[in-house]
Amino acid sequence: MKRNDVVLIIVLAAAAVGILIGNRLETQSGDTLIVRVHGAVAQTYSLRQNDSGTITGAGGIQLSFSIEQGHVSVIEANCPDKLCMSHRPISKNGESIICLPAGVILEIQSSEEAQYDAIVR
Ligand SMILES: [Zn+2]
Repeated sequence: MKRNDVVLIIVLAAAAVGILIGNRLETQSGDTLIVRVHGAVAQTYSLRQNDSGTITGAGGIQLSFSIEQGHVSVIEANCPDKLCMSHRPISKNGESIICLPAGVILEIQSSEEAQYDAIVR
């Protein structure tokens, strides 16, 4: 093995480790809001821009939510328990706000991870 080959292998290994670490950091804070009704994806939003939306779940229950500086919170809901409204804002990958009576889940995901999942599956 030539000296250049050894250097090349070290560079490649370092790059691979860097990509792994980069991906891990990226998944810490999510960049996509997934809105599910009974488990099916109904809407997706980017967290990179401020936005707001509404979703109608089971029994005609309506949830209004806002996206502000990457934080998602339910601002209005006509469900009986209002638990989703009292939930703290979510911003990190894997966090979710669930409205059980409506069967609605607001879920933060990282699009990087979604792509990774797609490749693995
Ligand atoms: Zn609710």
